[in-house]
Amino acid sequence: MYDNDLSGIVEADRAHVWHHLMQHRAFDAKDPRIIVEGRGLRVWDQNGTEFLDAVSGGVWTVNVGYGRESIGDAIRDQVVRMNYFAGSAGSIPGARFAEMLTDKMPGMTRVYYTNSGSEANEKAFKMVRQIAHKRYGGKKTKVLFRERDYHGTTIGALSACGQQQRAAQYGPFAPDFVEVPHCLEYRAQWDVENYGERAADAIEEVILREGPETVGALCLEPVTAGGGVIVPPKGYWERVQEICRKYDILLHIDEVVCGVGRTGEWFGYQHYGVKPDMVTMAKGVASGYAAIACLVTTEAVFDLFRTDAGDPLDHFRDISTFGGCTAGPAAAIENMRIIEAEGLLANTTEMGARLMAGLEGLKEKHACVGDVRGLGLFAGAELVADRKTREPMDEKLVAQVVGACDRRGVIIGMTNRSIPGFNNTLCLSPALISTGDDIDMIVEAIDAAIGEVAG
Ligand code: PMP
Repeated sequence: MYDNDLSGIVEADRAHVWHHLMQHRAFDAKDPRIIVEGRGLRVWDQNGTEFLDAVSGGVWTVNVGYGRESIGDAIRDQVVRMNYFAGSAGSIPGARFAEMLTDKMPGMTRVYYTNSGSEANEKAFKMVRQIAHKRYGGKKTKVLFRERDYHGTTIGALSACGQQQRAAQYGPFAPDFVEVPHCLEYRAQWDVENYGERAADAIEEVILREGPETVGALCLEPVTAGGGVIVPPKGYWERVQEICRKYDILLHIDEVVCGVGRTGEWFGYQHYGVKPDMVTMAKGVASGYAAIACLVTTEAVFDLFRTDAGDPLDHFRDISTFGGCTAGPAAAIENMRIIEAEGLLANTTEMGARLMAGLEGLKEKHACVGDVRGLGLFAGAELVADRKTREPMDEKLVAQVVGACDRRGVIIGMTNRSIPGFNNTLCLSPALISTGDDIDMIVEAIDAAIGEVAG
């Protein structure tokens, strides 16, 4: 399976690597896990143990699966010819991928390259502020974000964080970021029939409270990921679009998780017929084979930075050093070609339906499965202590379910432990190449794990 030398690797990791999202005390009791190889949906750790990875690299990233030689070849061919040049120069894969990508996004024309989801979102926030200064006399600098949504780890992005615990202890934050309520009907905040419209109206209420002349943009995930896999209720997105138009507010959709196939469409917003002004994406763009993120805009947004020619300072005065790496777009081209050639959008829709049916079955079988939600191969199962009161299951028990799946050879996730009382959703995002057997194995593992922990 692998033949490279692993001696001393655990010791080196334990002594020198500062792991992401990790309370390192956990390593007092167990070894860090080193993932040494991957093929398709399967990965192997340092002990040779095989796992089915139902979360695409832990954080919904490896959309086309592991071990894609053609992506490796595309990266190699490109980087030995021309690996990097930044500033105002372009590159062959940069131009080609921008054309391919915007072809999948009717109405969007311009691609700004960067290298992480957080950074792409920061660029969008900067554009909103600059537009406010250029067009609105310094007003319209506010960005609205939604409770439970997440847009990244940098201070600007954390200022737009709808998950309080993620932001805790990192303040003070940037001004002019304002929260609007979430739209999760299972945790309803309004007792109404047309929940989607009501939840969107709550955004309008915030706009009116703040003053529409101060609000520049609304930034939303199409389907909230780490905040609970929240698929917006019917009528929500249509109303959101109307509100943005009514108050001349830019719609910025954060497709960092949903983008490039995860939900069965190229982009999550395309399920809802919405027309965004700015779209950010990262994880699935090159499935983690290279670090690449994009901010894509309409020509109208682009034009705001072009029409006032003459003043050398009057453009988007921004750069991303590694936005000049050609490995990213070279990998992204091949990643997108694979999704098309292998029909992975259709597979995602079909396998996503199978996954949801499986989770619905678990809801019927286990009283602790309170709600199941999903779109494409992106699903969540919210666990509760009491089905009637919907009291969330204790986080430690949810973590035990995740652990019990792991022992059965299936890696699943849970909503990050950042929303007190609401960190109780199991998260699933297997690669878009999943087969029926893979999906069944995932559901069976969760079934057995819940039976073991909460049965
Ligand atoms: N937006 C969303 C919706 C995300 O889930 C994430 C990361 N999980 C980000 C932005 C930030 O992306 P990155 O970690 O690449 O900076």
